[in-house]
Amino acid sequence: PTPSITDYLRSHIRTVPDWPAPGVQFRDITPLLQDPRVFRVLIDTFVHRYMDRAQRPDVVAGLDARGFIIGSVLAYELGLGFVPIRKKGKLPFTTVQETYELEYGSATVELHADAVRPGDRVLVVDDLIATGGTMMAGKKLLEKLGAEVFEGAAIVDLPELGGSQRLREAGLALFTLVDFG
Ligand code: AMP
Repeated sequence: PTPSITDYLRSHIRTVPDWPAPGVQFRDITPLLQDPRVFRVLIDTFVHRYMDRAQRPDVVAGLDARGFIIGSVLAYELGLGFVPIRKKGKLPFTTVQETYELEYGSATVELHADAVRPGDRVLVVDDLIATGGTMMAGKKLLEKLGAEVFEGAAIVDLPELGGSQRLREAGLALFTLVDFG
């Protein structure tokens, strides 16, 4: 993205200090979704990256829950299907599961076993990369089903937490629009 697009998007992300816990700076993307012009710039920036033939995924997967908002619109605009990667206990059919460590405790994400086919190139979408644990769990789920993660895309990266670097070192290409230090 050009610097002006980055600044335009950044100016519509709200920082809420000490939420949901003391010391966390929560980067709230709801103002960005709320303004129809900014929402369009956001989606169009992703669409332009993935509409070229060489850059086209086969499927878009969204991470629960803000990844659903961006990922489903992006899939629709690209003429692709959308699959949700959900927190444990929400998907009704047979699933594959992946558990990963959080700062305190652990989390489990699930994907329907028939959500993708072996060899599918999947674009994984979320709002934000912090430690990268959620995106990494999504990648592992898709690989359990024989799919290939084409790229991870998010609006925000928090590079100081090291997640994006760890994901790139694990062989996952990443595309993010706004960094917060
Ligand atoms: P992680 O797995 O650590 O990369 O965390 C990423 C997930 O947690 C994303 O789904 C984000 O929505 C959420 N998240 C983590 N940290 C923040 C933050 N500072 N502001 C907003 N969302 C966050």
